[in-house]
Amino acid sequence: SSRTRAAPTPTTISTNSDAAAEKRATFADVAGIDEVEDELSEIVDFLRDPGKYQRLGARVPRGVLLTGPPGTGKTLLARAVAGEADVPFYSAAASEFVEMVVGVGAARVRELFTEARRTAPSIIFIDEIDTIGRQRGSGASMGGHDEREQTLNQILTEMDGFSGSEGVVVIAATNRPDILDPALLRPGRFDRRVAVSPPDLNGRVAILRVHTRQVPLAPDVDLTGIAKITPGMTGAELANLVNEAALLAVRRGKDAVDMEDVRSALEKVQLGTRRSLVMPEEERRRTSYHESGHALLGMLHPGADPVRKITIVPHGRALGVTVSTPEGDRYAYDSGYLRGRIIGALGGMAAEELVFGVVTTGAESDLEQVTRIARGMVGRWGMSGRVGPLSVLPPDGADPMAQYASQGTLDVVDEEARRIVEECYAEALRMLRDNRDRLESLATTLLERETLDEEDAYRAAGIPRRPDLAKH
Ligand code: ADP
Ligand code: MG
Ligand code: ZN
Repeated sequence: SSRTRAAPTPTTISTNSDAAAEKRATFADVAGIDEVEDELSEIVDFLRDPGKYQRLGARVPRGVLLTGPPGTGKTLLARAVAGEADVPFYSAAASEFVEMVVGVGAARVRELFTEARRTAPSIIFIDEIDTIGRQRGSGASMGGHDEREQTLNQILTEMDGFSGSEGVVVIAATNRPDILDPALLRPGRFDRRVAVSPPDLNGRVAILRVHTRQVPLAPDVDLTGIAKITPGMTGAELANLVNEAALLAVRRGKDAVDMEDVRSALEKVQLGTRRSLVMPEEERRRTSYHESGHALLGMLHPGADPVRKITIVPHGRALGVTVSTPEGDRYAYDSGYLRGRIIGALGGMAAEELVFGVVTTGAESDLEQVTRIARGMVGRWGMSGRVGPLSVLPPDGADPMAQYASQGTLDVVDEEARRIVEECYAEALRMLRDNRDRLESLATTLLERETLDEEDAYRAAGIPRRPDLAKH
């Protein structure tokens, strides 16, 4: 098991070092999420030799928040950091604290930190931090509200008390970062956030490799083939799939797991869960065209920021992501650039309309972005002839109800913003129609590979990178 449960008596520390109890995890046990490993390697280095950092006065984060859906390997990662650094690992589930009578949770937190300091360098792992760390006054509190708050306050007090030289790093995990109390995320607390996502195709192959290390496989078993039929599945689900297949092979009296076992196991695992584990093909196809629409318009529009990465692996609430970032710092935007941004943001919706004839709700955040830019152009940055060089909308952060202009002017702002967006949408549709073969090629490759980096994305679309940028 990866989590240590509470001891029955509240006076005992529920947490302990896992060093003696079980084989320690290392990064070799964590697969398919190399970027996350990279982000944590600094913490490992610090824990191995805190003195090196202290001598140079370098501060290392005291708190790291791992966020991501269940089963993506957050607990495993925390244990692997401790294993790599070879330091004691103290773990507690936040929900344990809530069950306590008032005052006991806080006392346990104090004990936990005292013990971790005594044996530093060390790691404290707090799982399900959202159960005590949700925003105060939000939602229904489970059980003792006071207890929750006192426990949370004690954790914050302990972390604030770190001088930075103790060599204690607190790692917390949650699948609900959106409901966390902002107090937790302040500098000096959980100020390093690391998002852990479900694996993409290559990630699933790597995870399957790890979990079949001890499993004899028949020659017909092809891990890439399994990865291809399991889009959307997490590390925990893949580990479970391998185990179910092995159990089936035993029951069928075989001495190796073959593809048939894997297929039956997949069916069984699917039936056992209410949601479908594997992302439906139709949804993946649609997401693929949507993201390709964004990316392609970003590649085609002169002056747009280069496309760095496209993925149809869900991240947070998003079904897919297209990342474009400028080559250097930009300080001011001209209206051509902003129109390009709007056209790119509408590219997802335009691709869906072009290919499927209907638009889904998946474009909501795109439209928010589009609206913000278009209204800014008209009402704040003087880029519409009809409104002129006037600032008629409240700046970011101002009271949104504050009236900066007459109703008549605001109506013109709406009309102008609408005109810009409609022109940009027509332009997006036209560009995609003119480059339909490129759209098909990019979307097909993305559907197959799930994630494309900059070079592969431009190649799949058949578009050369702009020569002034390609030398990077
Ligand atoms: P989380 O804490 O995010 O819910 P866990 O760390 O508890 O996920 O994952 C449960 C199990 O699933 C792990 O112990 C491991 O066997 C498997 N697993 C999850 N993610 C990975 C991964 N990236 N690589 C290898 N195994 C994984
Ligand atoms: Mg966990
Ligand atoms: Zn989109």
